[in-house]
Amino acid sequence: ALTVVGSINVDLTAVCERLPAPGETVIGADLQRQPGGKGANQAVAAARLAGRARMIGAVGDDPDGGLLLRHLAAAGVDTTGVRRVPAPTGTALITVDRHGENQITVCAGANAEVSLEDVSFAPEDVVLCQLEIELDTVCETARRTPGFFALNAAPARPLPAELVERCDLVIVNETEYARIPELADAELVAVTYGAQGSALYAHGRQIASAPAHEVAVVSTVGAGDAFCAALVLALAAGLDHETALRAANAVGAHAVGDASSQPEFSPLEHYLPSPSD
Ligand code: ADP
Repeated sequence: ALTVVGSINVDLTAVCERLPAPGETVIGADLQRQPGGKGANQAVAAARLAGRARMIGAVGDDPDGGLLLRHLAAAGVDTTGVRRVPAPTGTALITVDRHGENQITVCAGANAEVSLEDVSFAPEDVVLCQLEIELDTVCETARRTPGFFALNAAPARPLPAELVERCDLVIVNETEYARIPELADAELVAVTYGAQGSALYAHGRQIASAPAHEVAVVSTVGAGDAFCAALVLALAAGLDHETALRAANAVGAHAVGDASSQPEFSPLEHYLPSPSD
């Protein structure tokens, strides 16, 4: 099963006419409050695609923490590895304008306290991390994973060589790929290109690619997270590179056509290309 070690947030989104300039106040916004965090989004997507997933993380001992834990469990995520810590639950302050342009400030809170104490990884565990928790914890997770280790290197930041070398798979979008030169020689890197689909690179050389599915865009929030969960599950299940990319693109497209950052999904098999495709 997939184990996600990562962030769990409340997304507080203000939808307004235009983004405020520094020092400016914009009024008339609508407030939305949704579960988020790259870690939780990926764990929920994996549980919906595969029937189960395990989350290692931390939430605060505040009402939001309880709400997010119940939400994860309801989606089918094993939350026994999510600690409650004396810190505020992670919160993302998001402002979106009417063109969909956004501005995001993340308050890590409890996510800075994610710890691998009392956590063990079995050889059959497929482990997926992102970069919204302490980098040291990501590195420790990589060292302690006996099996398949995948890293969604988002948000982009410089990465230690030992971490890149340990990754069986790194997943990034185009911008992150350009911002992390350390990935140029990584073993296996999946790069997403939005409406242009995705590709896989081995030591910098393209080895597979797949076009995006055509879809009416509702919200691209969560598409990258859904893609990550699907690609890791598909590759870990032994699908070939191109089939795995195509399935992950289909899942990403489904997410783009859904307003939620944590959409409902059918089982992964549903997104596999049919033999006639
Ligand atoms: P991120 O949101 O992390 O920047 P992308 O925008 O590259 O990531 O999207 C991730 C994946 O979601 C893409 O590889 C693609 O499969 C799917 N996707 C994103 N945008 C679209 C779109 N407009 N149409 C179809 N698929 C999309």
